[in-house]
Amino acid sequence: MVSEGNGSAGQADVVIVGTGHGGAQAAIALRQKGHEGSIMMIGRDSAPPYERPPLSKEYLAGDKGFERIMIRPEKFWADKDIELRLGSGVAEIDWMAHTVTLSDGNTIGYRKLIWSGGGDPRRLPCTGANRKNVFYVRDKRDADAMMAALEAGAKQAVVIGGGYIGLEAAAVLRKLGCGVTLVETESRVLKRVAGEELSRFYEEEHRRQGVEIRLERGVTEVVGEDRLATGVKLDNDEILPCDMVVVGIGIVPAVAPLIAAGAAGSNGVDVDFCCRTSLDDIYAIGDCAAHANPYADQAVIRLESVQNAHDMANTVAKAIMGDKEPYHALPWFWSNQYDLKLQTAGLSLGYDATVLRGDPESRKFTVVYLKEGRPIAFDCVGTMKDYVQGRKLLEKGIEKVDPELLADTDVPLKELI
Ligand code: ADP
Repeated sequence: MVSEGNGSAGQADVVIVGTGHGGAQAAIALRQKGHEGSIMMIGRDSAPPYERPPLSKEYLAGDKGFERIMIRPEKFWADKDIELRLGSGVAEIDWMAHTVTLSDGNTIGYRKLIWSGGGDPRRLPCTGANRKNVFYVRDKRDADAMMAALEAGAKQAVVIGGGYIGLEAAAVLRKLGCGVTLVETESRVLKRVAGEELSRFYEEEHRRQGVEIRLERGVTEVVGEDRLATGVKLDNDEILPCDMVVVGIGIVPAVAPLIAAGAAGSNGVDVDFCCRTSLDDIYAIGDCAAHANPYADQAVIRLESVQNAHDMANTVAKAIMGDKEPYHALPWFWSNQYDLKLQTAGLSLGYDATVLRGDPESRKFTVVYLKEGRPIAFDCVGTMKDYVQGRKLLEKGIEKVDPELLADTDVPLKELI
Protein backbone atom coordinates (compact mmCIF):
# COMPACT_ATOMS: atom_id res chain seq x y z
CA MET A 1 0.00 0.00 0.00
CA VAL A 2 1.48 3.34 -0.99
CA SER A 3 -0.24 6.31 0.56
CA GLU A 4 0.32 10.03 0.68
CA GLY A 5 -0.25 12.23 3.71
CA ASN A 6 -3.87 13.37 3.83
CA GLY A 7 -4.18 15.27 7.07
CA SER A 8 -5.66 12.35 9.02
CA ALA A 9 -4.05 10.69 11.98
CA GLY A 10 -2.78 7.13 11.63
CA GLN A 11 -1.58 4.31 13.79
CA ALA A 12 0.66 1.29 13.44
CA ASP A 13 1.98 -1.29 15.86
CA VAL A 14 5.52 -0.74 14.58
CA VAL A 15 6.45 2.49 12.83
CA ILE A 16 9.76 2.48 10.96
CA VAL A 17 11.29 5.82 10.03
CA GLY A 18 13.51 5.58 6.95
CA THR A 19 13.17 3.40 3.88
CA GLY A 20 16.84 2.59 3.27
CA HIS A 21 18.53 -0.73 3.95
CA GLY A 22 17.93 -0.63 7.69
CA GLY A 23 14.27 0.35 7.54
CA ALA A 24 13.45 -2.13 4.80
CA GLN A 25 15.22 -5.00 6.51
CA ALA A 26 13.55 -4.24 9.84
CA ALA A 27 10.13 -4.62 8.21
CA ILE A 28 11.19 -7.76 6.31
CA ALA A 29 12.71 -9.35 9.43
CA LEU A 30 9.65 -8.58 11.57
CA ARG A 31 7.41 -10.39 9.10
CA GLN A 32 9.91 -13.25 8.75
CA LYS A 33 9.88 -13.68 12.51
CA GLY A 34 6.11 -13.86 12.58
CA HIS A 35 5.20 -10.35 13.66
CA GLU A 36 1.48 -10.00 12.99
CA GLY A 37 0.83 -6.39 14.03
CA SER A 38 0.62 -3.54 11.56
CA ILE A 39 3.89 -2.12 10.18
CA MET A 40 4.26 1.31 8.62
CA MET A 41 7.43 2.61 6.97
CA ILE A 42 7.78 6.36 6.67
CA GLY A 43 10.24 7.78 4.16
CA ARG A 44 11.18 11.22 2.87
CA ASP A 45 12.23 9.56 -0.35
CA SER A 46 9.31 9.17 -2.72
CA ALA A 47 10.67 5.96 -4.27
CA PRO A 48 10.03 2.53 -2.70
CA PRO A 49 13.03 1.05 -0.82
CA TYR A 50 16.15 0.67 -2.96
CA GLU A 51 19.82 -0.13 -2.49
CA ARG A 52 22.12 2.85 -1.94
CA PRO A 53 25.60 1.52 -2.86
CA PRO A 54 24.82 1.27 -6.63
CA LEU A 55 24.05 5.01 -6.68
CA SER A 56 27.78 5.74 -6.88
CA LYS A 57 28.48 2.64 -8.96
CA GLU A 58 26.33 0.63 -11.43
CA TYR A 59 23.25 2.85 -11.25
CA LEU A 60 25.23 6.03 -11.87
CA ALA A 61 27.08 4.33 -14.71
CA GLY A 62 23.75 3.40 -16.30
CA ASP A 63 24.60 -0.33 -16.04
CA LYS A 64 21.67 -1.09 -13.70
CA GLY A 65 18.23 0.48 -13.90
CA PHE A 66 16.02 1.30 -10.93
CA GLU A 67 14.10 -1.99 -11.10
CA ARG A 68 17.35 -3.84 -10.48
CA ILE A 69 18.31 -1.86 -7.38
CA MET A 70 14.95 -2.10 -5.63
CA ILE A 71 15.32 -3.99 -2.34
CA ARG A 72 12.12 -5.91 -3.13
CA PRO A 73 9.68 -5.66 -6.05
CA GLU A 74 7.11 -2.96 -5.29
CA LYS A 75 4.33 -5.47 -4.83
CA PHE A 76 6.21 -7.24 -2.02
CA TRP A 77 5.36 -4.54 0.51
CA ALA A 78 1.63 -4.76 -0.07
CA ASP A 79 1.79 -8.57 -0.09
CA LYS A 80 3.41 -8.49 3.34
CA ASP A 81 0.96 -5.90 4.58
CA ILE A 82 3.69 -3.33 5.14
CA GLU A 83 2.38 0.18 4.59
CA LEU A 84 4.73 2.55 2.78
CA ARG A 85 4.17 6.18 3.59
CA LEU A 86 6.47 7.91 1.16
CA GLY A 87 7.40 11.47 0.37
CA SER A 88 7.38 13.01 3.82
CA GLY A 89 9.65 12.65 6.82
CA VAL A 90 9.17 12.76 10.58
CA ALA A 91 9.52 16.26 12.00
CA GLU A 92 8.68 15.60 15.63
CA ILE A 93 8.48 12.77 18.13
CA ASP A 94 6.38 12.72 21.30
CA TRP A 95 7.78 9.69 23.08
CA MET A 96 5.44 9.95 26.02
CA ALA A 97 2.35 9.98 23.80
CA HIS A 98 4.01 7.45 21.43
CA THR A 99 3.34 9.56 18.35
CA VAL A 100 5.33 11.03 15.48
CA THR A 101 4.32 14.08 13.47
CA LEU A 102 5.24 14.16 9.80
CA SER A 103 6.40 17.18 7.86
CA ASP A 104 3.04 17.08 6.06
CA GLY A 105 1.31 17.62 9.43
CA ASN A 106 -0.05 14.09 9.95
CA THR A 107 0.35 12.43 13.31
CA ILE A 108 0.97 8.70 13.57
CA GLY A 109 0.75 6.64 16.75
CA TYR A 110 3.04 3.67 17.44
CA ARG A 111 3.71 0.97 20.00
CA LYS A 112 7.34 0.57 18.94
CA LEU A 113 9.35 3.03 16.83
CA ILE A 114 12.42 2.05 14.79
CA TRP A 115 14.48 5.03 13.70
CA SER A 116 16.54 4.24 10.61
CA GLY A 117 17.00 7.80 9.41
CA GLY A 118 20.55 7.42 8.07
CA GLY A 119 22.26 10.70 7.35
CA ASP A 120 22.15 13.77 5.17
CA PRO A 121 25.16 14.49 2.97
CA ARG A 122 27.47 16.97 4.64
CA ARG A 123 27.18 20.21 2.67
CA LEU A 124 30.23 21.92 1.31
CA PRO A 125 30.99 24.72 3.78
CA CYS A 126 31.78 27.51 1.29
CA THR A 127 30.06 30.04 -0.93
CA GLY A 128 28.59 28.81 -4.17
CA ALA A 129 27.88 25.36 -2.75
CA ASN A 130 24.21 25.64 -3.71
CA ARG A 131 24.75 26.10 -7.41
CA LYS A 132 22.58 23.91 -9.60
CA ASN A 133 25.31 21.65 -10.94
CA VAL A 134 26.79 20.85 -7.52
CA PHE A 135 25.73 17.28 -6.79
CA TYR A 136 25.72 15.13 -3.69
CA VAL A 137 25.54 11.36 -3.93
CA ARG A 138 23.08 10.10 -1.37
CA ASP A 139 19.71 9.25 -2.84
CA LYS A 140 18.19 8.36 -6.19
CA ARG A 141 17.28 11.95 -6.93
CA ASP A 142 20.91 13.01 -6.52
CA ALA A 143 22.14 10.26 -8.84
CA ASP A 144 19.40 11.02 -11.39
CA ALA A 145 20.34 14.71 -11.40
CA MET A 146 23.99 13.85 -12.01
CA MET A 147 23.09 11.48 -14.81
CA ALA A 148 20.95 14.18 -16.41
CA ALA A 149 23.87 16.64 -16.27
CA LEU A 150 26.12 14.09 -17.95
CA GLU A 151 23.53 13.39 -20.61
CA ALA A 152 23.22 17.12 -21.20
CA GLY A 153 26.92 17.13 -22.07
CA ALA A 154 28.93 17.80 -18.90
CA LYS A 155 32.54 16.99 -19.75
CA GLN A 156 34.67 18.12 -16.83
CA ALA A 157 33.99 17.37 -13.18
CA VAL A 158 35.57 18.35 -9.91
CA VAL A 159 35.00 15.68 -7.27
CA ILE A 160 35.35 16.97 -3.73
CA GLY A 161 36.25 14.35 -1.13
CA GLY A 162 38.45 11.29 -1.48
CA GLY A 163 36.39 8.83 0.56
CA TYR A 164 34.73 5.82 -1.07
CA ILE A 165 31.84 7.92 -2.44
CA GLY A 166 34.16 10.43 -4.14
CA LEU A 167 36.46 7.72 -5.52
CA GLU A 168 33.61 5.59 -6.84
CA ALA A 169 31.98 8.61 -8.47
CA ALA A 170 35.34 9.56 -10.03
CA ALA A 171 35.70 6.04 -11.47
CA VAL A 172 32.22 6.15 -13.03
CA LEU A 173 32.79 9.64 -14.44
CA ARG A 174 36.02 8.50 -16.09
CA LYS A 175 34.28 5.46 -17.51
CA LEU A 176 31.70 7.81 -19.03
CA GLY A 177 34.47 9.88 -20.61
CA CYS A 178 34.29 12.86 -18.28
CA GLY A 179 37.49 14.62 -17.16
CA VAL A 180 37.95 14.49 -13.38
CA THR A 181 39.97 16.39 -10.80
CA LEU A 182 39.58 15.13 -7.26
CA VAL A 183 40.22 17.38 -4.26
CA GLU A 184 40.95 15.96 -0.81
CA THR A 185 41.84 17.96 2.30
CA GLU A 186 43.89 15.19 3.90
CA SER A 187 47.36 14.01 2.87
CA ARG A 188 45.91 10.90 1.23
CA VAL A 189 42.58 9.57 0.02
CA LEU A 190 40.65 7.14 2.28
CA LYS A 191 42.58 8.38 5.31
CA ARG A 192 39.56 8.10 7.60
CA VAL A 193 38.95 4.46 6.81
CA ALA A 194 42.11 2.80 5.50
CA GLY A 195 45.86 2.51 5.84
CA GLU A 196 48.46 4.17 3.69
CA GLU A 197 49.08 1.16 1.41
CA LEU A 198 45.47 1.11 0.26
CA SER A 199 45.30 4.90 -0.13
CA ARG A 200 48.41 5.07 -2.27
CA PHE A 201 47.27 2.13 -4.39
CA TYR A 202 43.94 3.80 -5.19
CA GLU A 203 45.57 7.19 -5.83
CA GLU A 204 47.91 5.51 -8.31
CA GLU A 205 45.08 3.63 -9.97
CA HIS A 206 42.95 6.77 -10.36
CA ARG A 207 45.90 8.71 -11.79
CA ARG A 208 46.52 5.89 -14.27
CA GLN A 209 42.88 6.23 -15.31
CA GLY A 210 43.37 9.94 -15.91
CA VAL A 211 42.07 11.47 -12.67
CA GLU A 212 44.03 14.45 -11.41
CA ILE A 213 44.31 14.33 -7.64
CA ARG A 214 44.91 17.36 -5.43
CA LEU A 215 45.78 16.39 -1.85
CA GLU A 216 45.96 18.68 1.17
CA ARG A 217 43.81 21.21 -0.59
CA GLY A 218 40.66 22.88 0.67
CA VAL A 219 37.87 24.41 -1.37
CA THR A 220 37.17 28.08 -0.71
CA GLU A 221 34.45 28.77 -3.27
CA VAL A 222 32.41 27.22 -6.03
CA VAL A 223 32.62 29.96 -8.64
CA GLY A 224 30.11 30.40 -11.44
CA GLU A 225 27.70 32.39 -13.50
CA ASP A 226 24.05 32.74 -12.58
CA ARG A 227 23.28 29.57 -10.68
CA LEU A 228 25.75 27.39 -12.57
CA ALA A 229 29.18 26.37 -11.29
CA THR A 230 32.00 26.94 -13.75
CA GLY A 231 34.88 26.20 -11.44
CA VAL A 232 36.12 25.30 -7.97
CA LYS A 233 38.49 27.66 -6.21
CA LEU A 234 41.11 26.05 -3.97
CA ASP A 235 42.84 27.48 -0.92
CA ASN A 236 45.92 28.30 -3.02
CA ASP A 237 43.63 30.50 -5.20
CA GLU A 238 43.85 28.10 -8.13
CA ILE A 239 40.56 27.69 -9.99
CA LEU A 240 39.73 24.27 -11.40
CA PRO A 241 37.36 24.84 -14.35
CA CYS A 242 34.47 22.41 -14.57
CA ASP A 243 30.88 22.01 -15.67
CA MET A 244 29.84 19.85 -12.74
CA VAL A 245 30.87 19.40 -9.11
CA VAL A 246 30.38 16.18 -7.14
CA VAL A 247 30.62 16.36 -3.37
CA GLY A 248 31.29 13.31 -1.18
CA ILE A 249 32.51 14.62 2.16
CA GLY A 250 30.62 12.38 4.54
CA ILE A 251 27.24 12.52 6.23
CA VAL A 252 25.58 14.24 9.15
CA PRO A 253 23.44 11.70 11.05
CA ALA A 254 19.74 12.49 10.57
CA VAL A 255 18.59 12.37 14.17
CA ALA A 256 17.34 15.90 14.93
CA PRO A 257 13.77 14.90 15.95
CA LEU A 258 15.12 12.17 18.25
CA ILE A 259 17.59 14.46 19.96
CA ALA A 260 14.95 17.20 20.26
CA ALA A 261 12.70 14.64 21.96
CA GLY A 262 15.44 14.06 24.54
CA ALA A 263 17.28 10.98 23.24
CA ALA A 264 20.90 10.72 24.36
CA GLY A 265 23.55 11.17 21.67
CA SER A 266 26.28 13.50 20.48
CA ASN A 267 27.44 11.76 17.32
CA GLY A 268 24.15 10.39 16.03
CA VAL A 269 21.95 8.74 18.66
CA ASP A 270 23.20 6.41 21.39
CA VAL A 271 21.89 2.86 21.42
CA ASP A 272 22.44 -0.12 23.73
CA PHE A 273 23.34 -3.72 22.89
CA CYS A 274 19.99 -4.38 21.24
CA CYS A 275 19.71 -0.95 19.58
CA ARG A 276 17.41 0.72 22.13
CA THR A 277 17.74 4.47 22.46
CA SER A 278 17.37 6.16 25.86
CA LEU A 279 13.69 6.82 25.05
CA ASP A 280 11.13 4.12 25.88
CA ASP A 281 10.06 1.94 22.95
CA ILE A 282 12.32 3.74 20.45
CA TYR A 283 15.10 1.85 18.69
CA ALA A 284 17.68 3.26 16.29
CA ILE A 285 19.70 1.40 13.65
CA GLY A 286 22.12 1.95 10.79
CA ASP A 287 24.36 4.93 9.94
CA CYS A 288 22.95 7.12 12.72
CA ALA A 289 23.21 4.62 15.62
CA ALA A 290 26.20 5.11 17.94
CA HIS A 291 26.88 1.76 19.56
CA ALA A 292 29.63 -0.11 21.41
CA ASN A 293 31.05 -2.37 18.72
CA PRO A 294 32.57 -5.73 19.74
CA TYR A 295 34.87 -5.64 16.70
CA ALA A 296 36.29 -2.28 17.83
CA ASP A 297 37.09 -3.35 21.41
CA GLN A 298 33.71 -1.94 22.44
CA ALA A 299 34.55 1.59 21.26
CA VAL A 300 31.35 3.60 20.68
CA ILE A 301 31.14 4.22 16.94
CA ARG A 302 28.73 4.73 14.08
CA LEU A 303 29.11 2.47 11.06
CA GLU A 304 28.01 3.66 7.64
CA SER A 305 27.49 0.38 5.83
CA VAL A 306 24.79 -1.87 4.47
CA GLN A 307 26.05 -4.67 6.72
CA ASN A 308 25.51 -2.60 9.85
CA ALA A 309 22.05 -1.38 8.82
CA HIS A 310 20.97 -4.89 7.87
CA ASP A 311 22.30 -6.67 10.94
CA MET A 312 21.05 -4.02 13.37
CA ALA A 313 17.61 -4.32 11.74
CA ASN A 314 17.67 -8.04 12.50
CA THR A 315 18.71 -7.36 16.10
CA VAL A 316 15.79 -4.96 16.57
CA ALA A 317 13.27 -7.26 14.92
CA LYS A 318 14.37 -10.01 17.32
CA ALA A 319 14.17 -7.65 20.31
CA ILE A 320 10.64 -6.59 19.39
CA MET A 321 9.72 -10.26 19.12
CA GLY A 322 11.08 -10.82 22.64
CA ASP A 323 14.59 -12.14 21.90
CA LYS A 324 17.14 -9.65 23.27
CA GLU A 325 20.19 -11.12 21.60
CA PRO A 326 22.99 -8.48 21.58
CA TYR A 327 24.18 -6.99 18.32
CA HIS A 328 27.33 -8.88 17.38
CA ALA A 329 28.03 -8.87 13.65
CA LEU A 330 31.33 -8.80 11.82
CA PRO A 331 31.64 -5.49 9.93
CA TRP A 332 32.17 -5.85 6.19
CA PHE A 333 32.07 -3.49 3.27
CA TRP A 334 32.88 -3.37 -0.43
CA SER A 335 33.84 -0.85 -3.08
CA ASN A 336 34.00 -1.24 -6.86
CA GLN A 337 36.22 1.17 -8.77
CA TYR A 338 37.09 0.52 -12.43
CA ASP A 339 37.64 -3.26 -12.62
CA LEU A 340 38.88 -3.41 -9.02
CA LYS A 341 36.87 -5.13 -6.33
CA LEU A 342 37.71 -4.24 -2.76
CA GLN A 343 36.20 -6.19 0.12
CA THR A 344 36.90 -5.33 3.71
CA ALA A 345 36.33 -7.40 6.83
CA GLY A 346 36.62 -6.11 10.39
CA LEU A 347 37.42 -2.58 11.54
CA SER A 348 40.88 -1.09 11.31
CA LEU A 349 40.09 1.50 13.98
CA GLY A 350 43.05 1.85 16.36
CA TYR A 351 45.47 -0.30 14.30
CA ASP A 352 49.15 0.11 15.14
CA ALA A 353 50.74 -1.82 12.26
CA THR A 354 49.90 -3.22 8.83
CA VAL A 355 51.16 -6.20 6.87
CA LEU A 356 51.01 -6.27 3.11
CA ARG A 357 50.08 -9.65 1.69
CA GLY A 358 50.77 -9.81 -2.03
CA ASP A 359 52.00 -7.15 -4.41
CA PRO A 360 49.85 -4.08 -5.21
CA GLU A 361 51.56 -3.98 -8.62
CA SER A 362 49.75 -7.22 -9.46
CA ARG A 363 46.45 -5.48 -8.52
CA LYS A 364 45.69 -8.38 -6.18
CA PHE A 365 46.71 -7.91 -2.57
CA THR A 366 45.50 -7.74 1.00
CA VAL A 367 46.29 -5.23 3.72
CA VAL A 368 46.12 -6.80 7.17
CA TYR A 369 45.61 -4.40 10.08
CA LEU A 370 47.13 -5.35 13.42
CA LYS A 371 46.59 -4.08 16.93
CA GLU A 372 49.21 -5.27 19.42
CA GLY A 373 50.04 -8.10 17.02
CA ARG A 374 46.42 -9.25 16.61
CA PRO A 375 44.73 -9.02 13.17
CA ILE A 376 41.67 -6.77 13.45
CA ALA A 377 40.80 -6.08 9.80
CA PHE A 378 41.51 -7.11 6.21
CA ASP A 379 41.26 -4.91 3.11
CA CYS A 380 41.23 -7.31 0.17
CA VAL A 381 41.71 -6.07 -3.38
CA GLY A 382 40.84 -8.89 -5.79
CA THR A 383 41.68 -11.47 -3.12
CA MET A 384 38.36 -13.15 -2.43
CA LYS A 385 39.98 -16.11 -0.63
CA ASP A 386 41.72 -13.81 1.85
CA TYR A 387 38.43 -12.02 2.43
CA VAL A 388 36.49 -15.23 3.16
CA GLN A 389 39.23 -16.69 5.32
CA GLY A 390 39.99 -13.34 6.98
CA ARG A 391 36.36 -13.11 8.06
CA LYS A 392 36.64 -16.54 9.67
CA LEU A 393 39.79 -15.48 11.52
CA LEU A 394 38.08 -12.41 12.91
CA GLU A 395 34.93 -14.27 13.87
CA LYS A 396 36.98 -16.86 15.75
CA GLY A 397 38.74 -14.04 17.61
CA ILE A 398 42.33 -14.81 16.66
CA GLU A 399 45.24 -13.74 18.90
CA LYS A 400 48.77 -12.65 17.89
CA VAL A 401 50.06 -13.94 14.56
CA ASP A 402 53.59 -13.94 13.18
CA PRO A 403 53.61 -11.06 10.63
CA GLU A 404 55.88 -13.09 8.34
CA LEU A 405 53.26 -15.81 8.08
CA LEU A 406 50.58 -13.20 7.37
CA ALA A 407 52.70 -11.73 4.58
CA ASP A 408 53.35 -15.14 2.99
CA THR A 409 50.77 -15.64 0.22
CA ASP A 410 51.69 -19.34 0.15
CA VAL A 411 50.19 -19.69 3.62
CA PRO A 412 46.37 -19.60 3.42
CA LEU A 413 44.89 -17.40 6.15
CA LYS A 414 42.71 -20.28 7.33
CA GLU A 415 45.85 -22.15 8.38
CA LEU A 416 46.49 -19.41 10.95
CA ILE A 417 43.35 -20.21 12.92
P1 ADP B 1 31.97 9.40 2.13
O1 ADP B 1 31.19 8.23 2.65
O2 ADP B 1 31.13 10.55 1.67
O3 ADP B 1 33.01 8.99 1.13
P2 ADP B 1 34.09 9.85 4.14
O4 ADP B 1 33.98 10.59 5.42
O5 ADP B 1 34.52 8.43 4.20
O6 ADP B 1 32.67 10.01 3.43
O7 ADP B 1 35.08 10.59 3.16
C1 ADP B 1 35.00 11.95 2.91
C2 ADP B 1 36.37 12.47 2.50
O8 ADP B 1 36.21 13.85 2.18
C3 ADP B 1 37.41 12.38 3.59
O9 ADP B 1 38.57 11.81 3.04
C4 ADP B 1 37.65 13.84 4.01
O10 ADP B 1 38.98 14.08 4.38
C5 ADP B 1 37.29 14.60 2.74
N1 ADP B 1 36.81 15.97 2.93
C6 ADP B 1 36.00 16.45 3.91
N2 ADP B 1 35.75 17.75 3.73
C7 ADP B 1 36.37 18.12 2.59
C8 ADP B 1 36.48 19.33 1.85
N3 ADP B 1 35.85 20.43 2.24
N4 ADP B 1 37.23 19.32 0.73
C9 ADP B 1 37.85 18.20 0.31
N5 ADP B 1 37.80 17.04 0.97
C10 ADP B 1 37.06 16.97 2.08
